[in-house]
Amino acid sequence: MTPASLTRLALVGVAAVSLTALAIGPAGATSSHHPSNHPSHHQPSHHHPEPKTVPVRLLSINDFHGNLEPPTGSGGRITDETGTQVDAGGAAYLATHLKQMRDKNTVVVAAGDLIGASPLISAAYHDEPTVALLDKLGLATSAVGNHEFDEGIDELNRIMKGGCHPVDGCSPAGTWKGSSFDYLAANVLKEKNGDYALPPFYVKKINGVKVGFIGLVTQTTPTIVTAAGIKGLKFTEEVAAANKVSKLLARQGVKAQVVLMHEGDNVAPNQSPDACPNTPGAGSRIAQGLDAQVDLVISGHSHQAYICKTKDPAGHDRYFTQGSSFGRVITQIDFQVDKKTDDIVRSSVVPDNHVVTRTVTPDPEITAFVQTWKDRVSTVANRPIGSITANLGRNSTNGGESALGDVIADAQLEGTKVGGNAEIALMNPGGIRADLTFAQSGSEGDGVVTYGEAFTVQPFNNLMQAVTLTGAQLDALLEQQWSATATRVLQQSATLTYTANLTQPFGSRVSNIKVNGVAVTDTQQIRVAANNFLVGGGDGFTVFTQGTDLWSGPLDIDAFVAYMGAHSPIAPPVTDRITVIQ
Ligand SMILES: [Zn+2]
Repeated sequence: MTPASLTRLALVGVAAVSLTALAIGPAGATSSHHPSNHPSHHQPSHHHPEPKTVPVRLLSINDFHGNLEPPTGSGGRITDETGTQVDAGGAAYLATHLKQMRDKNTVVVAAGDLIGASPLISAAYHDEPTVALLDKLGLATSAVGNHEFDEGIDELNRIMKGGCHPVDGCSPAGTWKGSSFDYLAANVLKEKNGDYALPPFYVKKINGVKVGFIGLVTQTTPTIVTAAGIKGLKFTEEVAAANKVSKLLARQGVKAQVVLMHEGDNVAPNQSPDACPNTPGAGSRIAQGLDAQVDLVISGHSHQAYICKTKDPAGHDRYFTQGSSFGRVITQIDFQVDKKTDDIVRSSVVPDNHVVTRTVTPDPEITAFVQTWKDRVSTVANRPIGSITANLGRNSTNGGESALGDVIADAQLEGTKVGGNAEIALMNPGGIRADLTFAQSGSEGDGVVTYGEAFTVQPFNNLMQAVTLTGAQLDALLEQQWSATATRVLQQSATLTYTANLTQPFGSRVSNIKVNGVAVTDTQQIRVAANNFLVGGGDGFTVFTQGTDLWSGPLDIDAFVAYMGAHSPIAPPVTDRITVIQ
């Protein structure tokens, strides 16, 4: 492979490449299409001495999740550098800020989860509107995120390469043209032959120097994405995967290296976006473990804003950053590249998290673009599906149980009784993304629930399934709700009751389990309904994978819509399905 074809590979991306195929070509490969027109930097230039370094500016976002419209609630607010909570995010505001921050040395990059788990305006069209927006914003490349796999690798390839959706057809905008950027992953391999499932890196030439971007996604992706989404793929350890590509790039003369990774750490609530996480997690582990050739680590996944100075294995300072989520923060990173060494001057790196405030004038072109999609989706979104008599909240009122969680679990049971023979239903609390409120903004407050509101609550398009568990397995599953790392109390249908004694150690908290009021025995066979994420062992509920006689039914949102249609108006249930001792 020639240097030029290596570059073409990096710029255009290929679906399947092996590392051996990449590791060819002399050092100093150029990404110029006309190398003969460019004098080598080794040539003396006495009359016009050129500067020894050239400036580069990176502008980065992560975890945008299709937020074309300004996100509402806590997802639309952020603590700024002065400690003040401010409104932030929205594509048109993001566009204005990017325009103001961009200069001729700028590359716009991202760290994954740009699509998936997105609002209806984007999700109804398989996120094509969001990818079109990112193209308009000039995104050059992004790490792939776990949510980019929500609909599987074939769909992700369609998003990048174009074509209409195989089931839902073309969107109202016509045939999908594909993205002008590629998603990168150095640690996602095809199971069958070990080839890269996505391009592992991208090289951008800017101001005559080359900057290499290496993509990574959390190796935990298989535990947080539905099994169908990651079928045929292998997610490998991040540091080793990136270091392999880093060495290859260095051999090709790409010494200025940036890792874009969809993994990150958590920070203390309400800290400045420019502060550092004080509890090192998976993000820090990778950020410190990467080869010293890597100059910068731009992260995502944990939806946190931070700027952290850490050390590379050679003991040199290296920055590790993240820019919140939903387009609320742009991370600006300025640095100089030494023209002699082709490397980033570490001491010149200046990172800064910039809040995407809504006090600027929203970009008119992007405002019109978003409005077009808002109009298109409105007929779908505004269709009434039922009504409620009062707010249905997702915040727990009883040891983790919530009114909205109860109603969703009841709907899931109803949707899986026929065909799935389900007796109880369990719902992961993290899959309930918003409250259902009696009065919607701008309306009188008649309790009407629209499809758009229901979709905001359950945006994942998960499939309902049912499996058989024994009584002992159900007990073990319920015990998995509490662990040293997390408390995740499943929402349950009215047909299931139990006692949770929170004073007892993990693994010994659940007792008195009853189905339809009858005590459960260890050997009893129980048909349990849940979405495919949980049934696949998601959120650490690994006992689900021991289930037998798997049955697949309707989409979770369709089960909810059917339930609302049959039972409206729905009153908030009393949250007494769990008897809590604390
Ligand atoms: Zn993620």
